[in-house]
Amino acid sequence: MPLKDLLKPFKTLKNISKKPMTLVFPKESLPPTENYRGRQLLDVNKCIGCGMCSRVCPNDAINMVDFMNKKCPQIHLGKCCFCALCAENCPTNALTMTNQIFIAGYDRFFAVYDPEKLSKNE
Ligand code: SF4
Ligand code: SF4
Repeated sequence: MPLKDLLKPFKTLKNISKKPMTLVFPKESLPPTENYRGRQLLDVNKCIGCGMCSRVCPNDAINMVDFMNKKCPQIHLGKCCFCALCAENCPTNALTMTNQIFIAGYDRFFAVYDPEKLSKNE
């Protein structure tokens, strides 16, 4: 076997002094890319309760519920595929997609975003 092939495995030794490529999640994370579709944000004042978002949702993830004397969307993010059809078809732009991608909890009910939770940008 030629000498250069024998030395090949030792090429990796140069990485010993380098910083690891992996991040210590959740303390560290990369920012989402531009136009990444995270969870939705609801502007309750703009919502007219028309239910269009609920009708166009292909995953049946949106229910219309009573909130502030009108009907507003409640989204089950566990069913959502983040296609953005709900936001794109909202006639008043009350529903928009954010780049919030960290949606996790200890039970499935955590993923149910009622209008109040949906309207908080946090
Ligand atoms: S969020 Fe938009 S589409 Fe959905 S009920 Fe409100 S106004 Fe209609
Ligand atoms: S992003 Fe798509 S799947 Fe998710 S709630 Fe909106 S329409 Fe439904």
